[in-house]
Amino acid sequence: MVSRMSTRYISELIRQRVREAFDDRCAYCLSSQRYSNSKLEVEHIIPKALDGSDDESNLCLSCRLCNSFKGAQVDATDPVSLTAVPLFNPRTQTWLDHFQWSRDGVRIIGKTATGRATIVALQLNNDISVMVRRNWVSVGWHPPTDSI
Ligand SMILES: [Zn+2]
Repeated sequence: MVSRMSTRYISELIRQRVREAFDDRCAYCLSSQRYSNSKLEVEHIIPKALDGSDDESNLCLSCRLCNSFKGAQVDATDPVSLTAVPLFNPRTQTWLDHFQWSRDGVRIIGKTATGRATIVALQLNNDISVMVRRNWVSVGWHPPTDSI
């Protein structure tokens, strides 16, 4: 039997509210549920492994790739200043303050230390995501013109 321990305490109502709060998009890479058959996941911003709560304020929506690359990380090294900084917090920070799309729309560029560190830690420009975004761009689905 598969353990569902990490998700046991989050009600369907809360899951729905998180989904709505993030407009059915990954809070980190902005991938929309509409363009993926992999269900977006409710993610703990502060991981349960670090005593993060199941409260809505600690939950966001994340694609499987971002969620798995993030793991239990809460901070990472900014590749420019080489200092450790907190990862982007989708509940307290605004995506467009920390990130922007490359001119061709396929890569995420960090505007701040937190943005740059988050790109590295969550591998936001991994080969799969870049390839998929390139296809989305070709049919006019990407990049989004807003953030969450
Ligand atoms: Zn994502």
